[in-house]
Amino acid sequence: MIVMKFGGSSVANAERIRHVAGIIRKFADRRPIVVLSAMGDTTDDLLEAAEAALAGKVTIDAVEQLHKKTATELHISADDIDPLLGELRTLLTGISMLKEVTPRSRDYLVSFGERLSVRLMSAYLNSISVRAEFRDAWDVGFISDSSYTNADLLPETWENIRNKLGAYAGGKPGDGKPMPIVTGFIARDQKGFITTLGRGGSDLTATLLGAALRAQEVQTWKDVDGILTTDPRIVKEARTVPVATYDEVAELAYFGAQVLHPRSMQPCLQTGTPVRVKNSYNIEAPGSIIVTSHETKPSPVRAITTKKNVTLIDIVSTRMLGQYGFLAKVFESFAQHEISVDVVATSEVSISLTVDGKKLNFAACRHDLEKYASIEVKKEKAIVTIICDVMRSSSILAATFDALAEENINVQMISQGASKVNISMICESDEADRVVQVLHERYFGKDGLCELCGGISASGGNV
Ligand code: ASP
Ligand code: MG
Repeated sequence: MIVMKFGGSSVANAERIRHVAGIIRKFADRRPIVVLSAMGDTTDDLLEAAEAALAGKVTIDAVEQLHKKTATELHISADDIDPLLGELRTLLTGISMLKEVTPRSRDYLVSFGERLSVRLMSAYLNSISVRAEFRDAWDVGFISDSSYTNADLLPETWENIRNKLGAYAGGKPGDGKPMPIVTGFIARDQKGFITTLGRGGSDLTATLLGAALRAQEVQTWKDVDGILTTDPRIVKEARTVPVATYDEVAELAYFGAQVLHPRSMQPCLQTGTPVRVKNSYNIEAPGSIIVTSHETKPSPVRAITTKKNVTLIDIVSTRMLGQYGFLAKVFESFAQHEISVDVVATSEVSISLTVDGKKLNFAACRHDLEKYASIEVKKEKAIVTIICDVMRSSSILAATFDALAEENINVQMISQGASKVNISMICESDEADRVVQVLHERYFGKDGLCELCGGISASGGNV
């Protein structure tokens, strides 16, 4: 059996749903379990509806119109979605009366997106004679902790899934068991409240289903040919990465590439279940396959990503040189104030680190740190990350700095991380695209080093 996951843009309207249903039908013999995100921008529309409700305006127009119109265009009945739309309106009325939306009610609210999309898809599949049945994630065993808006699935989910879906997964084509169409992104906690797995969390739903049921593969369908060497908006020659490892993809996700939810690699990493990223506009293309390790020695650099709007914080101890406990204290402050740190470089008495500038609330943390350190905050930076084989880092660093020096670009900090697959550099936000272009050309360009691996071994690397 396989798991097929389709994201929001793949099911954004009636035409896309028809197209995706066609793909599902093509794979019907492989006993798919389908995982869907909410249609198009529905999750954002729901969050906006909550803001409007807080301001006293209860409206579900955007969400209602999209889903009703889609049902009409697909010639299916709206019977399965009407009760949900009613419940949604009641919830928004409640929010507008209480003038409050808690993380818990926010999760309940956004859960309507996925619940609506699986109902439409299931009705449509049945209308074209593909026997299907919509399933809310909790009905197939997804249970999480209560960290609303970014919940972690509990270990019993694995067993629950096998109990609920094992019979379907182990069945034979033509045995009449309906194909499960499962909501991505959502779960329930032990108290029965709805939770979500973090934005983009449908990927995790799909990989956990695939790992628990030992699927032949988990397919995540996108609008591009798999994982690309970099963001095609920055470098139009970006190309498909044919094979990558779970580690590499997790790092890619953490460092800004919108490939897959960062935590989604964990379940398949445990079982070795392959994950394939495919293009719904180019069904025949093999896409990218994500596996445990590379069988043949691949080129040294897999991909280049960038994350903008990053803040760089330099922290220098004002106490004696060599004071132990300095690093521990610094990280304790960040943990206490729940600020997550991305890239770090340290010396004995100073530390430079980056944090996400978008939602940064640093004042209280800074106040703590200033008791024993001087602080300098530099905004509008970017992280450029090279996902590569760090075993070959000397040659990669040499080639990287050579390419950047030729273009007169200075990087401000570099960190090879504890990870075996990334080298990260900090530069100015407005220089980031240029850095990516220069490096992409050097590694993947016409005569790039990744084409001719010899290019790197010639400079001393062990290729
Ligand atoms: N609909 C959710 C989001 O937009 C989950 C997902 O798409 O995976 O983040
Ligand atoms: Mg979405």
